[in-house]
Amino acid sequence: MASKEPENIDELISDFSRFYILTILYEGPAYGYSIISRFKKRVKKEVSPSLVYPFLQQLEQKGLVTHTKKPVGEKEKKVFELTQSGRELCTALFKRFADLVSIAIEPSLYICAHCGCKVYEGAYREVIDSKETAFCCIHCARSYKEAKKLAKQYSGASKQE
Ligand SMILES: [Zn+2]
Repeated sequence: MASKEPENIDELISDFSRFYILTILYEGPAYGYSIISRFKKRVKKEVSPSLVYPFLQQLEQKGLVTHTKKPVGEKEKKVFELTQSGRELCTALFKRFADLVSIAIEPSLYICAHCGCKVYEGAYREVIDSKETAFCCIHCARSYKEAKKLAKQYSGASKQE
């Protein structure tokens, strides 16, 4: 992969607002004001144009964003767009963020007692041998119980209880 993070990425993406602006740009070209309104709609928080525009300019200076001018009525407006390296940076950044998030949600994950897959929510539970056990689905629970029954039978036969 050719994706390389500029060394100052952490300095550049120092907060959630900037991170979120990148996710908006990642979806496609956008006017400055549409970045601001989409931000407000999704984050339910105002983002100041005095953060957005200098940030876009910074990204542009680093070759991560370009803009084209489009006539809107009598005015010209800038449409901002990620460059190829801007997209690569975002992909790397989102990957890093996804890794962080998965670490954060790890404690709330259940491991299916039968197949070992991770279940984030909606785990199927059953009390087996007075112990609550989590599964990814009812079929895994059934297989688990069958395997357990078999194991009991075998150990019972060998131990001669
Ligand atoms: Zn399973």
